[in-house]
Amino acid sequence: MPRTLDPHLRRTLSERIRYYNELGIYDFYRRPRPGTIEESQPEPRNEMASKPRPMAVPAVEEDLFEIPKPEANVEDPVRALRLIREDLGDCTRCRLHKQGRKQIVFGVGNPKANLMFIGEAPGADEDEQGEPFVGRAGQLLNNMIRAMGLKREDVYIANIIKCRPPGNRTPERDECDTCSPFLMRQIAVIQPKVIVALGAVAAKTLLAINAPMAELRGRWYDFRGTKLAVTYHPAFLLRDPRQKKEAWKDLQIVMKELGLKIPAKGVE
Ligand code: URA
Repeated sequence: MPRTLDPHLRRTLSERIRYYNELGIYDFYRRPRPGTIEESQPEPRNEMASKPRPMAVPAVEEDLFEIPKPEANVEDPVRALRLIREDLGDCTRCRLHKQGRKQIVFGVGNPKANLMFIGEAPGADEDEQGEPFVGRAGQLLNNMIRAMGLKREDVYIANIIKCRPPGNRTPERDECDTCSPFLMRQIAVIQPKVIVALGAVAAKTLLAINAPMAELRGRWYDFRGTKLAVTYHPAFLLRDPRQKKEAWKDLQIVMKELGLKIPAKGVE
C-alpha cells in the first residue's frame, strides 16, 4: 500500500531536497530502518568496497525525488560536463570563495578518458591558470602520465576541491564535503575505467576512510563500480623522490588493468 505524506512534511522534504540540489547533490541514500530485515542483513565484509543502497521511495512520494541533475540523459560527455560547470557557477557554497581564490579549477582532459587522476586542491599556479596540476607537481604528474605511455590529453585530471585554500593549506573536511558532489558528477559522466587518487586527501575523501598512505596503497578499491587505486601525490614525490619507484609500482598495476604496455623506464 503506498503511503501518503503529511502535506507539511512533504513541503519540508521538498524544500530540503531543493536545498541539496542547489549544493549539487542529487543522489540520496538511506540507512536501514532499525528493526527491519535489511538492518539485520550482514554488512559486506569489505566496507570500503560496499556501495550505499539507493533510497527506496514509496510510489506516491516518488515525484519528491524526481528533480533530475542538469546533465541527466545528456549523452554527449562534453555537454554534460559543461552543464555541471554551469551548475557550479561562480560558486560561493563554502568559505573558500572569499579567501582569495582567483578562479574555480574545474578539471581538464578527455571527457571519455579511461583513466582519471584526482588530486587534492588547486595551488597558486592552478588558481592563476584555471587548470589542475600545471605547477611543479603538475610537471611531475605529466612525467608520470608519459611514463605510462599516455599523453595528458588522454586522461582526465581533477581535484577533490575546486578552489585554492589560502596558503595551500589542506582542505577542511566541510570544504571537501561541499565541493566533492560536483566531482562525483564529473566521474559519473566520464565513466573512467580506473581512478587514481593522488595522495591521502583524495583517497580518504573518495573512499570515506581514514588510514595512512602506507595502508591505502597497494590494493584495488571499488568506487561506485569503478576501480580505484591510490598512489603518492606528486608534490610528496617532489619532496621525497626516493618514493618515485613506489609510485611507479602503483602505476604499473594501473597500466596492467588498462591493458597498457609497460615500458622498462619508470618515472623521472
Ligand atoms: N596539487 C593538487 O592536489 N592539485 C593541483 O591541481 C595542483 C597541485
